[in-house]
Amino acid sequence: MSLSNKVVIVTGASSGIGAAIAQVLAREGATLALVGRNVANLEATKKNLKGTQAEIVVADVTKDADAIVQQTLAKFGRIDVLVNNAGILGKGGIIDLDIEEFDAVLNTNLRGIILLTKAVLPHLLKTKGAVVNVSSCAGIRPFAGALSYGVSKAALDQFTKIVALEMAPQGVRVNSVNPGFVVTNIHRNIGIVDEEYNGVLQRAINSHPMGRVGDVTEVAEAVAFLASSKASFTTGALLPVDGGKNNLTPR
Ligand code: NDP
Repeated sequence: MSLSNKVVIVTGASSGIGAAIAQVLAREGATLALVGRNVANLEATKKNLKGTQAEIVVADVTKDADAIVQQTLAKFGRIDVLVNNAGILGKGGIIDLDIEEFDAVLNTNLRGIILLTKAVLPHLLKTKGAVVNVSSCAGIRPFAGALSYGVSKAALDQFTKIVALEMAPQGVRVNSVNPGFVVTNIHRNIGIVDEEYNGVLQRAINSHPMGRVGDVTEVAEAVAFLASSKASFTTGALLPVDGGKNNLTPR
């Protein structure tokens, strides 16, 4: 197993892609700190894990970075990998931008990741560990009408590359996965209702050259690769997991 004896913090482990990341990392032998705000959902994630140690860490990534680190260290004594997966969507483009929502998106998708990475890095330096950020294809290419989200993910991608450069001489790797559309709660959480959702999904299917959307496990497998020593000479990389959406002309 590629992550045996590794202690991994996974934020946003209570839902969607984060829950799948927990599953795949557990299969690879990782010991997990499962971070999120919804206790019932974190417990559901933990219940689905087989044969691994997991600690539930109820925390808000926008303000609890030190508590996340302390609880993980108190339970497991070390940190080998940080997976910054927690994130939220925003609605609208420049004309209808709600600046409070913009602040919330940037706070979660960028500032929260910076705070937690800063708090975890001293421990990753001891273990020669790794950071994997869950960005988006929206970090690499622009999508009209997704201003807050696209700006947050593009900035996150630059953060990934800068911190990778800073940490490379000290043996800590920093990479990101950049998924295309994946069916999770994230779209409904911004108020997309059933009638709209089918249209959103169909447009997403049509916009991926492979003619389908992604699955949470496909993203999780890419995270597991970047987290493990299989990716020992890879740092500063943005790995699209998007059916060709960033690199090929959409149909
Ligand atoms: P979900 O809405 O299913 O899950 C989001 C997760 O983030 C939840 O576990 C939620 O936990 C957590 N979260 C949000 N805000 C906070 C916070 N302040 N503190 C702690 N945890 C928080 O979405 P996905 O699984 O789809 O998204 C996961 C990541 O994947 C995000 O970064 C997203 O941008 C990215 N992504 C998703 C795509 C998609 O199409 N689904 C495409 C490209 C990227 P809780 O509610 O317990 O706090």
